[in-house]
Amino acid sequence: MAYHPAMSDGHASVRHETAVIHGGQRPEPVTGAVMPPIFTSSTYVQESPGVHAGFEYSRSHNPTRFALERMIAVLEGTGLTEEQDATRGGFAFASGLAAMATLLEVMDAGSRLVAGDDLYGGSNRLFSRVRERSQGLKVSYVDFTGSAWRNAITTDTAMVWVETPSNPMMKILDLRDIADHARSVNPGIILAADNTFASPVNQRPLELGFDVVMHSTTKYMNGHSDSVGGVLATNRADLAETLRFLQNSVGSVMSPFEAYLVLRGIKTLAVRIDRHNRNARRIAEWLEGHDMVERVVYPGLASHPQHAIAATQMHGFGGMITFFIRGGLENARTFLENVRLFALAESLGGVESLIEHPAIMTHASVPADQRDTLGISDTLIRLSVGIEHTDDLIADLQRAFAACGAKARA
Ligand code: PLP
Repeated sequence: MAYHPAMSDGHASVRHETAVIHGGQRPEPVTGAVMPPIFTSSTYVQESPGVHAGFEYSRSHNPTRFALERMIAVLEGTGLTEEQDATRGGFAFASGLAAMATLLEVMDAGSRLVAGDDLYGGSNRLFSRVRERSQGLKVSYVDFTGSAWRNAITTDTAMVWVETPSNPMMKILDLRDIADHARSVNPGIILAADNTFASPVNQRPLELGFDVVMHSTTKYMNGHSDSVGGVLATNRADLAETLRFLQNSVGSVMSPFEAYLVLRGIKTLAVRIDRHNRNARRIAEWLEGHDMVERVVYPGLASHPQHAIAATQMHGFGGMITFFIRGGLENARTFLENVRLFALAESLGGVESLIEHPAIMTHASVPADQRDTLGISDTLIRLSVGIEHTDDLIADLQRAFAACGAKARA
């Protein structure tokens, strides 16, 4: 369960519980402040034209954002030094989608993108409804759990984009297999993984052959449902150089205040994820035995079709659960209206438990036929299990199931 991020701050090698606190961090040089101050200044004085202390203008260089970016680089294990890239290959943006949009700028107009078929609805919308039009991207969506995807990757595929676990169907993709195959077809391909659901505590795609990792920090990284942001991390110095240029040129950077919040949230990432993992597993097992549940999809259950891959690829199975409730939309609606502790809301990854209906809420922007093919039906419910006591969470779900039963009997 422990990984060893390469840290070049005088720490030889540390486990993730230590990395989330110290990764890429050093006391602020003027005051010795242990946490980086929120540097709000938009600009920095220069001794002589072009002579400065590494900070010129806050879109390009911000010490608070840099502190977060170095942390991200350490947690995802980029292995880059500050000589190779100012923040070792970590980059922070105004939202998860802003991070993705900037990464897409790496590709020339008309490039071919092969993406997983089960993605956050906003990712699908960005690819198909924005960049197919404005960048001429040729996007194909494939099921990376089958075998057809192997033929979808061609010598002219510029980028592969995957989510694992995927949102909302919780597919687990074999990152090592995808990386090996894609690179054998096109050595120059860029392999990108959305690691939002897993967090770097549970999974590190760069170690499995991927080139870029993305997070919506809005979720587990910040962990308190009080900020919106996104990050990228790469272990390729050439890509880091391009991303640094693009981050500054496109300009959708994370603000210093958000960077401070996310860095603060990350300090407890290891303890939070440990609790999310344990809570979700217990709830998934409980749901699987419930007579009002048709099927539970959780990578930690032996019944999950890719459980074996999850068990080797992940250090923990995460806090996200999808399940199908018996009955129709009416039953799903009654269930969702009757939870009290679980908040009926979009988003995920916070300390509090959330519940939602993907077909109507987070994935409404996915075309209906694509939703049908994927199985995002009216009875599909997604849980983001928080870090509360599981007995209380189970009691809450049980109360909502009872309300469905009572309605059926009335
Ligand atoms: N990726 C995943 C898996 C998500 O769940 C989300 C948001 O829900 C995003 C990306 C987009 O991130 P943001 O909302 O921070 O732009």
